[in-house]
Amino acid sequence: MNILVFGPNGSGKGTQGAIIQKKYNMPHIESGAIFRVNIGGGTELGKKAKEYIDRGDLVPDELTIPMILNRLKEADCKQGWILDGFPRSMVQGETLAKALKDEGMNLDYVIEIVLPRDVAKLRITGRRLCVNDNNHPNHVAFDAIKPVEKEGKLVCRVCGGELKTRADDQDDTAIDKRHNIYYDDKTGTMAAVNFFKTLTGPKVISVDGRSSIDAVSAAIMKELV
Ligand code: AMP
Repeated sequence: MNILVFGPNGSGKGTQGAIIQKKYNMPHIESGAIFRVNIGGGTELGKKAKEYIDRGDLVPDELTIPMILNRLKEADCKQGWILDGFPRSMVQGETLAKALKDEGMNLDYVIEIVLPRDVAKLRITGRRLCVNDNNHPNHVAFDAIKPVEKEGKLVCRVCGGELKTRADDQDDTAIDKRHNIYYDDKTGTMAAVNFFKTLTGPKVISVDGRSSIDAVSAAIMKELV
């Protein structure tokens, strides 16, 4: 089962991707998380990507597209994958569609988490990243995933790990830039969303991202077989 997950930054798509990963035991491939691992590890890719990410700009296609297409060819993707954060533009969408065709890979589901832009923005600044596991959701404004306090410090609610914020989550201009890219239905992410939604083949699951994490997850799970 191969799945694309779309949603603006702040919609909880990473959280939902992690829930699907756990249930179906398939790799959850997050382009942003791959970049962050590379930045943390000081790799060449990380060094090149960092300046774009900090500004809220897209990392150039010549770095991003091969990184994702090569990842999809790895052995653990044979039984299916969840792709999150890619494609983010019409060019990436068309390139992905062609690559899937060339590789004989089906796309089974297109999940779209729909969220108004003002709500998405409010959600971003409160999220926290667990240094142990990127798939441990923590958010200071949501009771269900609130970090816990330990020795006067907020730590990961799942594993007690240290929490960090993302630099690009605390920068107003970077947040706005990322949303400009997402909500652009001419050449941006919404153009790619609409392109994949009209393809024959994949089943489209559109869910209201304003609901709770559990409700969004239930709405998705009832459509996934
Ligand atoms: P995310 O974790 O999905 O919010 O991604 C963080 C940042 O990584 C984005 O703001 C971009 O700078 C970069 N990034 C993630 N996915 C892509 C992509 N598909 N194309 C280009 N840049 C990306």
